Amino acid sequence: MFDIEPGSPEHGVQQLAAHVADDVLRPRAAELDRRGGFPTDSLAALSAAGLMGIAVPRELGGLQAGALAYSLAVTELAHACAATTVALCVNNMVAEVLAHFGTPEQRSVHVPKLCNGEHVVGAFALSEAGAGSDPAGMRTRARRTDRGWVIDGSKLWITSGSDAGLFVVWAKTSDDPGTRGISTFLVPGDTPGLSRGKPEHKLGLRGSTTCAIEFASCEVGPDALLDEVGRGFRVAMMALDGGRIGIASQALGIGRAATMAAAAWTRDRYGERDVPQGVSFALADSAMELDAAALLTTRAAWLKTTGQPFSHQASMAKLMASERAFAACNRALAMMGPEGQDCDGVVERLFRDVRVTMIYEGTSEVQRVVVSRDIARRFEDAR
Ligand SMILES: Cc1cc2nc3c(=O)[nH]c(=O)nc-3n(C[C@H](O)[C@H](O)[C@H](O)COP(=O)(O)OP(=O)(O)OC[C@H]3O[C@@H](n4cnc5c(N)ncnc54)[C@H](O)[C@@H]3O)c2cc1C
Repeated sequence: MFDIEPGSPEHGVQQLAAHVADDVLRPRAAELDRRGGFPTDSLAALSAAGLMGIAVPRELGGLQAGALAYSLAVTELAHACAATTVALCVNNMVAEVLAHFGTPEQRSVHVPKLCNGEHVVGAFALSEAGAGSDPAGMRTRARRTDRGWVIDGSKLWITSGSDAGLFVVWAKTSDDPGTRGISTFLVPGDTPGLSRGKPEHKLGLRGSTTCAIEFASCEVGPDALLDEVGRGFRVAMMALDGGRIGIASQALGIGRAATMAAAAWTRDRYGERDVPQGVSFALADSAMELDAAALLTTRAAWLKTTGQPFSHQASMAKLMASERAFAACNRALAMMGPEGQDCDGVVERLFRDVRVTMIYEGTSEVQRVVVSRDIARRFEDAR
């Protein structure tokens, strides 16, 4: 699209991510997809490189490089292995949410461990059966006791649920209507009463474990509460706004990898002969659409980095990047004929991996709800 200024912190982080992607993630991606499971060693390498807390303050163990550096790094990593990258994205989101909302003690105890790999990785436990797009419908409850809180309920589809050392968990703490009775808790992975389901068998991202998490009389101390009682919905939405920049960037990496694979295949297939216009136009469309999505993603990341509101811009970026990356993977697969769907080729994996970027951290329909609500509000304000 365009090169980030050499010598800038963003460029440094992008280069670092590109090196780790080439040296660690790309050589392992196909095998990780084939056997499934959790990418323990790759995540340790990402921690060692400092990429598990890219926008986290330096004093808490992060790189303090901002959302634009984060976005560029995620795109490089997802280009190599989207499955490992989603674990990194969720960890960065959890570390940032703690750095923002945590007490000084919560921050100093947990954030460095999320950045250096001591927690292995962080998990974000919001969704439940029937309560993903609509968190108001959640049934998990947290009851206050003399010694802290007791959590009961179950969460579904939790990324890295099999291995996470720390969970950020949302639970109802009152019967207040809508999202007002939701609070946020920090639950270490070894807390008695927390159990992890078997990883789901998924279409894509097979090297990322996605599990149900059960809380059965799960007792945590008073210091487990993150932010104030009843303010959990706000915490979750702020986390997801930033998370959507990560998923937009992940989708861009996948879409670009598919487009590059198709371009290389086209060069080999046609050599010196003319490439049929239907094929070259498809490549042009993918390149143009992914660049447009990258510009939206860069805008959202820049707004976040500079402390400006960025919620609907993050939704626009995620919606556009995930849908255009899906189209790019689909075109790449079509262009390559039977080789596109060959399970020994890269495009087949990218095609499966990209689909979920339109689902998690808010489906495409939910992003349209966010954007249209914001347009309606701005229209009202302008009247
Ligand atoms: C691989 C994977 C990893 C995940 N990781 C995590 C994680 O780490 N943490 C976590 O908390 N969750 C995670 N999720 C859950 C994910 O965020 C939710 O599945 C997603 O937000 C959709 O919510 P839902 O499951 O309730 O689906 P539903 O809301 O029931 O959606 C079903 C359909 O209805 C549509 N729909 C719903 N509401 C509206 C509306 N208002 N307007 C228009 N259409 C609507 C949706 O767009 C969708 O097409 C993960 C999911 C997957 C597949």
